[in-house]
Amino acid sequence: MTQVKLYDTTLRDGMQGQGMSLSAAERVRVVKALDRLGIHYVEAGFPSSNPKEAELFRILAGVEVSGAQICAFGMTRRRDVAAEDDPALKVLAECFARVCTLVGKTWALHLDKVTKASKEDNLGMIADSIRFLRGVGKRVFYDAEHFFDAWREDFAYALECLRAAVAAGAENVTLCDTNGSSLPREVAETTAAVVTALGDRVEVGIHTHNDAECAVANSLVAVDVGARLVQGTMNGYGERTGNANLASILPALQLKMGYECVGPEQLRRLTETSHFIDELSNLAPDPDRPYVGRNAFAHKGGMHVAGVTADTRTFEHVDPSYVGNSREVLISELSGKGSILSRAEVAGIELDVDAAKRAVERLKDREHRGYHYEAANASFELLLRREAGQYEPLFGLEGFRVITEKRADGKVETEATIKIWVDGRRYVRTTEGNGPVNALDRALREAITELHPHLAEIELVDYKVRILDTDHGTGAVTRVLLDSSDRHESWGSIGVSENIIEASWEALVDSLEYAFQPKRAARSDQQEVTSKRSAAGRRDGQP
Ligand SMILES: [Zn+2]
Repeated sequence: MTQVKLYDTTLRDGMQGQGMSLSAAERVRVVKALDRLGIHYVEAGFPSSNPKEAELFRILAGVEVSGAQICAFGMTRRRDVAAEDDPALKVLAECFARVCTLVGKTWALHLDKVTKASKEDNLGMIADSIRFLRGVGKRVFYDAEHFFDAWREDFAYALECLRAAVAAGAENVTLCDTNGSSLPREVAETTAAVVTALGDRVEVGIHTHNDAECAVANSLVAVDVGARLVQGTMNGYGERTGNANLASILPALQLKMGYECVGPEQLRRLTETSHFIDELSNLAPDPDRPYVGRNAFAHKGGMHVAGVTADTRTFEHVDPSYVGNSREVLISELSGKGSILSRAEVAGIELDVDAAKRAVERLKDREHRGYHYEAANASFELLLRREAGQYEPLFGLEGFRVITEKRADGKVETEATIKIWVDGRRYVRTTEGNGPVNALDRALREAITELHPHLAEIELVDYKVRILDTDHGTGAVTRVLLDSSDRHESWGSIGVSENIIEASWEALVDSLEYAFQPKRAARSDQQEVTSKRSAAGRRDGQP
């Protein structure tokens, strides 16, 4: 079977979308989720001196992935600088990623109006940059920006740009419909011409934007005529109207066109991965999204239901289970008993069949109330532990109180007092904070860290609030998603309540209790011993 590789640009192109913003720790979670889905190349972004990107690349250098190649993105050298002196190319050369993707110009309009470089200069910029990165041992992909617009105007030059990239050592040239201007027939004809001209020497890729709502179709027709790498973003995130949606492209390639992209078990993670990235970005998953949406396989009309009951092919274009979606759409894909058992196993929780059944029931009930666990793995694991009887509370709450005061001079002050019991002792702490959740977090941690010092290392990375519409007319419900991390991993927790403080508290407690679970506490203590040892070692003058 012919293989088509997928190249995800969610963390670069996707982040250009309105309101998209993810912390470095969250981006790492996205990389891991895409890796589990079987995506071949995951682009992490520009490895620049921007602190967020620098932190991301630093963390990613130590992250274990099973199959994905992490790629770094950059541009061809500046017009008047040698490649080896170009600061951005230097950062690329030094970063840990083996695959570097370089974007460069192909369209004369851009050379005239934006780059102010001649066509000849541009060919040099492409070739030098690629040669430089090849020289330091990188695999190089070349993204030909505005390729289809360039082709329309001067196909000979557009092809010359690609030839320059290939001659300099690019192993892939990807044709970009950067403005999203092209329609499928044109993409098919142009891609076919490029594959005919270069196909035996280089892999051809496709990168499309959705301005004419053809990004997915354009990607598929390009594969039809010989493209073997598809770039896109999960859920089609991206600037303007978005990029090609990998969550639609992957199942189309695999289930309808017969290409081999990922394993069948990996494909079953599609719905979960799509929702996970939505939730992490604080977006409600679009119910009407093809393949992965809640309504994608929902059958309402009586005749449809009867038809599907007789034979699912009557009203379904693919079997929903292949993409991890389901026909019974009230509960999420997490809720199947089998899936719960496998998750429990991963977390090291022994769950018998009865406990798994109870967990499914509890999950259904909680999802109905607004809990969504796709991005809240910590809360999910605690839920399983409770059902398995392997849950130990971190403390007993006697009560807490939060006061926020705004004064005439505009100053706002917040104070929290907390009363808890830990191991038979009562702790009362009062602290100030820059907001109610921060004050509560500080008070709680001050009370607990005396007994559990490793909990002091946990950082609350991100705090997201969404107001959920409820169907039952009880008014709005607030949902809080909290992302936390220590030196080893990041996790998400969730709280839901009509009261925002209560929802935040629930997420906060889950976050700390997750970190407190036996396995993590042990590892954290171990780490402490190791770091003390190495500190002692340094004093003795050892390396
Ligand atoms: Zn793009």
